Amino acid sequence: MQINNSVAVITGAASGIGEAAAKALAAMGAKVVMADMDAVKLQGVTTAIEAEGNSVACKVCDVTDENSVRELMQFAIDRFGSLNIVLACAGIIRDSFLITPDRETGKVKKFMSTGQWKQVIDVNLTGVFITLREAAIQMTNHRFPGVLIPISSINKSGELGQLNYASTKAAIALWPKILAGEFHARGITNIRVAAIAPGYVETPMLTSIDPEILGKIVADIPLGRLVKTDEIMSTVRFIVENEAVHGTTLEVSGGIIGKGLAK
Ligand code: NAP
Repeated sequence: MQINNSVAVITGAASGIGEAAAKALAAMGAKVVMADMDAVKLQGVTTAIEAEGNSVACKVCDVTDENSVRELMQFAIDRFGSLNIVLACAGIIRDSFLITPDRETGKVKKFMSTGQWKQVIDVNLTGVFITLREAAIQMTNHRFPGVLIPISSINKSGELGQLNYASTKAAIALWPKILAGEFHARGITNIRVAAIAPGYVETPMLTSIDPEILGKIVADIPLGRLVKTDEIMSTVRFIVENEAVHGTTLEVSGGIIGKGLAK
């Protein structure tokens, strides 16, 4: 699929990977609809893209709310006349070990709360499910050529302190195979699905963590540095432009195997 003149919807577009993808896809001639929770941040990125003379619109959207996501897809179609690329970047972390005993007493002093568990499941799993489903409904009903790109993570392999997050990312890594099979079984030939599993990417989600922990992370990356958002974007481009990429999850990690923040 050509990026030029396609219509791209990006969730979590006000920051990090989503923001970089919105800027890059717009610069390549896509008509971009940016979605996120924070209207002020969204508007800032939208204004920057408009200043380059590129086509962009934004909509406040909570990916955990199916009406909000349905309205987002309809908004893209009303505004730009199609829906072709859907990049599901909205995601959060709420890290904790399952339980942490006190060093002196040996009794549990902290644990992952049900709130920490549910928030991550709601945004990273249910939110992506709703995003892909609502996009696929529109692409099928209108026969728009489409590609769905959910973001997994290298932490799908298991990350200490991220039982919640790694569970969602492992699930998402499976979805392209399942959905490619389902679409094939139902005679849907106009939609492809390919996920990206980034390693540690230079975005606010990561650069906001404790510098000492960040240093340990970088020391474990064979590439010797964090992955850049441009490197995720070139993978998005590869997926969109190469019609044979379907039913797969591509790792872009700088060689890391995902063995854990907490050593
Ligand atoms: P980021 O900079 O924090 O961007 C994520 C965006 O999603 C934020 O603007 C966030 O808003 C928004 N968001 C949160 N909940 C939302 C909701 N319910 N509805 C709509 N938007 C919501 O993160 P990033 O690093 O770019 O990560 C993007 C995706 O890549 C995530 O799925 C993440 O898990 C994945 N990933 C990141 C890395 C990495 O190293 N950075 C590695 C592997 C995978 P708030 O800021 O208000 O929460």
